[in-house]
Amino acid sequence: MPDCIFCKIVAGEIPSDIVYQDDEIIAFKDINPQAPHHILIIPCRHIETILDLTTDDTALIGKMILNANNIARKLGLSKNGYRLVFNCKHDGGQDVYHIHLHLLGGRKMTWPPG
Ligand code: AMP
Ligand code: ZN
Repeated sequence: MPDCIFCKIVAGEIPSDIVYQDDEIIAFKDINPQAPHHILIIPCRHIETILDLTTDDTALIGKMILNANNIARKLGLSKNGYRLVFNCKHDGGQDVYHIHLHLLGGRKMTWPPG
């Protein structure tokens, strides 16, 4: 996906502050953090929205969530907690059409979200 900014991060074509990487997923710091800790966990493979997931991706999504938990533990967030978010399409507030799991922590989140 030549115009996908997150595919370019996976390919190392644009810089990012990577906190975890393997052959299936990569996690990096959000460039515009909305909390003291704001990490994005993405699949290396281009998937536009969470609506495009299939049953073949069940393990991949599970891995993304477990990886977010591991990162949260390392950041010291497991005692007070944190928030995991997938935004989906326009009304969900999705700006980058390569799925990403937001890990937000380090402050008390509000509800309902904006
Ligand atoms: P969403 O609105 O759910 O699509 O979230 C997209 C997120 O990607 C936003 O929080 C942006 O700040 C973040 N973002 C966009 N470009 C970059 C980049 N080059 N490096 C890190 N994070 C980015
Ligand atoms: Zn992509």
